[in-house]
Amino acid sequence: MLIGMQITVVGAGIGGLAAATALAMRGAHVTVLERATAITEVGAGIQISPNGFAVLEALGLGDAIRAAGVISRAVVLRDYARGAEVLRINLSKYSDGPHPFVLIHRARLIDVLAEGARAVGVDIRLGAEVHPSDPPLPGEDLRVGAEGLHSQMRATLNGPGDAFFTGQAAWRAVIKDDAPPESQVFMGKGRHLVTYPLGNGLRNIVAIEEREEWTEEGWSHPDSPDNLRRAFSGYAPEVRGWLDRIEEVHLWGLHRHSVAPLWHSDAWALLGDAAHPTLPFLAQGANMAMEDAWVLADCLGSLPKSEALALYQVRRRPRAARAVEAANANARNFHLRTPVLRDAAHLALRLGGAVAPSAPLKRYDWLYGYDVTAS
Ligand SMILES: Cc1cc2nc3c(=O)[nH]c(=O)nc-3n(C[C@H](O)[C@H](O)[C@H](O)COP(=O)(O)OP(=O)(O)OC[C@H]3O[C@@H](n4cnc5c(N)ncnc54)[C@H](O)[C@@H]3O)c2cc1C
Repeated sequence: MLIGMQITVVGAGIGGLAAATALAMRGAHVTVLERATAITEVGAGIQISPNGFAVLEALGLGDAIRAAGVISRAVVLRDYARGAEVLRINLSKYSDGPHPFVLIHRARLIDVLAEGARAVGVDIRLGAEVHPSDPPLPGEDLRVGAEGLHSQMRATLNGPGDAFFTGQAAWRAVIKDDAPPESQVFMGKGRHLVTYPLGNGLRNIVAIEEREEWTEEGWSHPDSPDNLRRAFSGYAPEVRGWLDRIEEVHLWGLHRHSVAPLWHSDAWALLGDAAHPTLPFLAQGANMAMEDAWVLADCLGSLPKSEALALYQVRRRPRAARAVEAANANARNFHLRTPVLRDAAHLALRLGGAVAPSAPLKRYDWLYGYDVTAS
């Protein structure tokens, strides 16, 4: 049903570009309208999990992503003060398989996606800001809202409302450093820090802090590295060593909406952060956006438009909502404030990991083990 359809995708982020490629591969004529004058991403890393990699593979981009990133072998949870290992989650079940965890610079991911989209005939137009009241492009059959957290199409479909502050702020920085092929999470009271390699001798650092409110203007701004160093001054020596080497850092107030009740009308569909913005504590925002992209194209490829859009929401909303909830739960678990509670939780993790090393990963089989391109 997609052959010859004219589809406009608003937003050339990870979700928009993945959707454009998936739709064009099935015969649609796709135009992407992006308000920025260049396709860019923030200067930071991103974790692609096996469920997201499955989509990239199906889009024909698996090899390019493997070449541009680092295959992760483990997730290591550590105590903040001593850096002692609390739990090591071995990822070899995935890293040695067809759909690995990949750690990659966002700029490289977006380049691979944009090249993939152009290769299947997608027309990407930059400097093109779209408002919901703008008339459809000539012949347009469907408009896809992939404009991210502040989506105006979401607001038009679901009613206006500002994104709310989640009580979490995130610093992001990249330093020159050779890091082992694993993600490390240092867990403290009201704060945690995640670090992983990006390839090419770069280490990504994301440092999260709980805050009562977000009083700054805008959603993100450059910050002084000293503020970050102060906030994490009680952390393990290796963490302080990395923070000492940061020259440039940005701070984000993490905002979100609840999962949109309505993801489509007769002529529109939403995907990615426009439909279900999430805290980054399960690293699923972009992965879910790519899954949405595939399912949207899959539904439109086999059913008339109105049935396809209804099925798209049915297939996607419960899974995206579950991922959002699981990320919220991680925020609580990573930041346990009471030392007794934290020690008990860490002991339970250590013992659990020693007795049944595969159990922690098994808890996420529903997430990582699900291949949306196979269903
Ligand atoms: C600290 C942090 C770490 C994260 N880590 C991970 C991770 O490891 N793994 C993961 O999967 N996710 C992660 N995420 C989440 C992930 O970054 C987002 O979920 C993902 O980028 C959303 O993609 P998107 O395409 O839906 O939206 P966006 O990336 O926000 O793209 C939207 C695009 O639309 C454009 N646009 C907006 N409005 C208009 C308009 N009116 N007209 C035209 N264009 C418009 C914008 O310029 C932008 O290019 C993280 C997020 C944060 C904050």
